[in-house]
Amino acid sequence: MYNPFTNAQSSWVKYNSYVWKTAPNGMEYIMPVESSMPEIYDPLENPEEIVLDAIRTGRICMSKDAETEARKAIFDFIRKYGLLGMMTALPTTPRFIEYEKVYLPKNRFIKAETMDTEDYLAHFYPFERPRFKKKGIESSWEIDDPTMAALFLTFQNRLQSQVMTFQRTYGERYDWLKLQFTDWALIAMTCFFYYEDRDNIDPVQRDVYRKALEGFDSTVPGFHYALTDERPVLVWDFHSLSLTLQMLLAFLLTDDKRPLRLCRNCMKPFISETSDEKYCSTKCRKARERGE
Ligand SMILES: [Zn+2]
Repeated sequence: MYNPFTNAQSSWVKYNSYVWKTAPNGMEYIMPVESSMPEIYDPLENPEEIVLDAIRTGRICMSKDAETEARKAIFDFIRKYGLLGMMTALPTTPRFIEYEKVYLPKNRFIKAETMDTEDYLAHFYPFERPRFKKKGIESSWEIDDPTMAALFLTFQNRLQSQVMTFQRTYGERYDWLKLQFTDWALIAMTCFFYYEDRDNIDPVQRDVYRKALEGFDSTVPGFHYALTDERPVLVWDFHSLSLTLQMLLAFLLTDDKRPLRLCRNCMKPFISETSDEKYCSTKCRKARERGE
């Protein structure tokens, strides 16, 4: 894939163990185990693999009567890559913590257009709220766990809200995760069916596909300039894994040399070696040709 993100702040944190927890509000969450240890990695090192894993997970989430499989797929994804950081991905600005209120563009998770920052945080800290003091835009945050304090130091040039999503007390709702993975799979499927069916469907149906994709608009990551010794460079700021995935998916689906495709035979997502490969493997191509 053409890599537009050569300079990016994209490193992310995952823990060595996660657990299912039911919150006092009855919602089910996935969060790090209390004694788990964080590990830092860069999702941009393997951009194709992480997107393929996300689409596979989403496809499982879409299957009927596969709740056990969906739970397992999502949990496995999080064990491999960490939580999505939805807290900073949803608001109009990832700097929401500096404001009294959080502003939310239309999204599939929270209907309210604005929320008190404290109420918003409660969605992501189901048990223990960060000990957070706020006075206008000034905010301070008490951490007494040495591991968490070390993480905070490592990421001191990143946004406070992002580092907050790396804390052990941060969790994500299972129903939201499931919806997010389903959405990513739906985007890939809409693109797939549009080109598969294009010659057999009428303009009205084509428009339905186009409209379906329009519903998946997303907030975009910010960027800043860095002045290196030779020249100024553009640095992308990814504040969540969710936004990183969203951007990678968009670039992979629209790549003209090695695009992400769904197999015409088995519907598995794969990276096409040419611009128009239709099958994930020779096995699938032969199966189709034999009319199996
Ligand atoms: Zn296949």
